[in-house]
Amino acid sequence: MDYIELAKNTEICKNCKNLVVGKGNLSASIMFVGEAPGRNEDEQGLPFVGAAGKNLDKLLEKVGLNMNDVYIVNILKCRPPENRPPSQEEIKAHTPWLLKQIEEMKPQVICSLGNYATKFFLSDCDVDLMDKQPGITSVHGKVKTIDLHGKKVKLIPLFHPAAIIYNRSLLDEWAKDMEIVKREIEQKI
Ligand code: URA
Repeated sequence: MDYIELAKNTEICKNCKNLVVGKGNLSASIMFVGEAPGRNEDEQGLPFVGAAGKNLDKLLEKVGLNMNDVYIVNILKCRPPENRPPSQEEIKAHTPWLLKQIEEMKPQVICSLGNYATKFFLSDCDVDLMDKQPGITSVHGKVKTIDLHGKKVKLIPLFHPAAIIYNRSLLDEWAKDMEIVKREIEQKI
């Protein structure tokens, strides 16, 4: 991918050292979008390889999906210092890259994991409007058709797998939401 080479040679944000681009199958129809790499992801150069990633693997397995069925990326491609939440400036610097990934992959369904990714897509990718969007608790599992690069994509917000580690009562919600994801990929848009 040319844009990866480009990004490596361009100062995307002040923190960018190790880049974490994506993993899974670029020809799959589902893209998962998380928040930002943590320490393990930063060390290995792959998204969702730490505790949240192990949980995501288990959650996918429960609904009969694996890495071949999905492509996984993050809003930010580098780790924020001290694992703090992404800043508005960082989201602005990194999301053009995310949009390029979407343009290249052409997913049918985007599952936004947690508040940051969900608010980004619900605000029509306008980072300044993210604060005004509802939180994941009220929108998870609600399918919304969004327009990206002139193509219709089904957005399905899901709880972040890290949240499910700490709150097991979200497991049932996740399973129900994933049934919706599976139904959507079986349908033509
Ligand atoms: N949490 C995320 O949102 N992304 C990762 O890659 C790891 C943890």
